[in-house]
Amino acid sequence: MIYFIGAGPGDVELITVKGKNLMGICDVIIYTGSLINHEILRYAKNEAKTFDSSCLHLEEIIEIMKKAQETGLDVARLHTGDPTIYSAIREQMEKLDEIGLPYEVIPGVSSLAAAAAVLKKELTVPGVSQTIIITRVGGRTPIPAEENLEFLAERGATMAIFLSVDRIEKIATDLAKSYGPDMPAAVVYKATWPEQRVVIGTLRNIAEKTKGQAIDRTALVLVGNFLDGKFEFSRLYHPDFSHGFRGGIEKKDGSEIKGKPGHTAKTERGEKKRMPYYREEG
Ligand code: SAH
Repeated sequence: MIYFIGAGPGDVELITVKGKNLMGICDVIIYTGSLINHEILRYAKNEAKTFDSSCLHLEEIIEIMKKAQETGLDVARLHTGDPTIYSAIREQMEKLDEIGLPYEVIPGVSSLAAAAAVLKKELTVPGVSQTIIITRVGGRTPIPAEENLEFLAERGATMAIFLSVDRIEKIATDLAKSYGPDMPAAVVYKATWPEQRVVIGTLRNIAEKTKGQAIDRTALVLVGNFLDGKFEFSRLYHPDFSHGFRGGIEKKDGSEIKGKPGHTAKTERGEKKRMPYYREEG
């Protein structure tokens, strides 16, 4: 089997248990040497063969996988963060489909989740934004015209920009047209690595501050009011809010009859019903 494994953002403890266990049984490890924390290779068997994919092109990677499979060896293909975001696994999977080799994808902790954790922020804050736009600025990989930053910014949503911190000036200028120059912005460099650094500002000054720190790669640009202090409390843990685990008595129009947990209340048809006790959600 070939396993595409999310290696996490840097801290080697941020790989999943499943990913780590699979690494431990694989005979061949192919890893993105330019981004992955090499220390993660300690989860591999001593005798495992390792290949740094930053010196390989697609056909060579597939050839290594093919040879391993022919001799009955399992392969771990490590990608930084989560393999479903900007990792070019699609082309590898298509090649494997063409030659009929089986594979699985094991998710990982994306640098987006890691950066938000470093900042101690929630990306989807009630009353602020319930949408996250994950994007990048065009470089050698072009961006579809309808996905340009200025257009995406019109939604006012939380935005995470990968692979683009070297163009922070243009990002800030383009985004400020819709978000306004006072919109909070943050740059998180190498989240969860020992050399991690955080720059906090607004669209007005984030470019200057980032350049002052000489950050030009391996960083996420995060933009949105979620970075600020203002928000509304979530309805999820509000006592009047019902869902699968705890519920008020729902009326036909969707509103609720409220009451204290354990006390009785009358339904629309006049029946007495005990108000449910609340249960904590995990
Ligand atoms: N699949 C990866 C993204 C790979 S693209 C993921 O889910 O995180 C590489 C880009 O990811 C970098 O240019 C940078 O924007 C971001 N990145 C990767 N690791 C990072 C980290 N530890 N801290 C901040 N950004 C990171």
